[in-house]
Amino acid sequence: MSMKKIAILSGDGIGPEIVAEAIKLLDCLKHNFGFDVELESAAIGGAGYDQDGDPLPESTLTICQQADAVLLGAVGGPAYEGLERELRPERGLLRIRAELELFSNLRPAMLYPQLASASSLKDEIVSGLDIMIVRELTGGIYFGQPRGIRELDNGEKQGFNTLVYAEYEIERIGRSAFDIAMLRNKKLCSVDKANVLEVSELWREVMNRLSTDYPEVELSHMYVDNASMQLVRAPKQFDVMVTTNMFGDILSDTAAMLTGSIGMLPSASLDSNGKGMYEPIHGSAPDIAGKSIANPLATLLSVAMMLRYSLGEAELANLIDVAVGNVLNQGFRTADIADGANSVSTAEMGDAVVAAMRVQSN
Ligand code: NAD
Repeated sequence: MSMKKIAILSGDGIGPEIVAEAIKLLDCLKHNFGFDVELESAAIGGAGYDQDGDPLPESTLTICQQADAVLLGAVGGPAYEGLERELRPERGLLRIRAELELFSNLRPAMLYPQLASASSLKDEIVSGLDIMIVRELTGGIYFGQPRGIRELDNGEKQGFNTLVYAEYEIERIGRSAFDIAMLRNKKLCSVDKANVLEVSELWREVMNRLSTDYPEVELSHMYVDNASMQLVRAPKQFDVMVTTNMFGDILSDTAAMLTGSIGMLPSASLDSNGKGMYEPIHGSAPDIAGKSIANPLATLLSVAMMLRYSLGEAELANLIDVAVGNVLNQGFRTADIADGANSVSTAEMGDAVVAAMRVQSN
């Protein structure tokens, strides 16, 4: 096993608290499972601004470029809201995604049976839910040019953005999604708006073309309005979904909330070589920062995704998934998933997962 380098970006708010638990887990992998890993910490977001006046300091970018994978806590907070746009913590995040060309955003929505009551939907609709949404992350309407707000001849203002996808962009996110479908149940649903948008027509054409390279994967297409409805009507019909930046932004939040627990969901953003940045889907939760009550499980599950998708350690990833299931079975709950019952602290939850890992190393 060759040595792996992981860049650790704790960020702001609860970021340092939850990432501390991930570091404990990585130490356990090193000492109990012989996983050869080196961690290097760097500042991002508000912490980057405090350190260097830049939400993505040059030194941080270099560390991330040299690493095999990046683990991020979260960025942002009220202290930075008054800064000009370019200096805001969230800009650091957008910039690192662009710099590392992390075009493929993997957002799983998985419901742990132990937490079924946390969902706003009925048990029978969500129990066993396990969806992977693959969202294009560096193109589409969020990046298309021209964009802006202009003044028309009649003096009225007009806002405009451009939805644009080049074939290569569709092809690489398509391949990423087909590859993931091959690792799962070989079922892929491509979501578009081909009845209205030319961009979507091209999207569909490229997805169909790619499917000939993946004969084992069953490809289907769905309009985005229907997909949003189906996600709340019968979400278990989906396995892997692939879609554009904006559609994915919206659908992945809907899918995440089907599970009812924002503190449980990890995510990955990958480049074309499988290098990636891994982070919980939630933000820096300033309302609970410093209280030691944040749920670290989304971050620990992000470590599992990192092992699976960037570091070629699927077995260790599976052990983490099992450990998390076991601590939930043992009744450990942080406040966000406790449903009024007794809860444990961030560190107690992290320790419980490490203990459940050690049991599996014996
Ligand atoms: P948030 O996700 O930080 O918090 C939403 C709610 O969920 C809050 O009540 C919070 O306490 C709770 N929550 C979030 N994570 C939790 C956890 N691990 N355990 C328990 N409870 C948890 O979203 P927000 O309040 O809209 O945003 C706060 C800040 O985070 C903003 O500055 C925003 O820009 C930033 N943000 C950052 C990221 C990121 O770093 N990827 C993502 C979203 C928002």
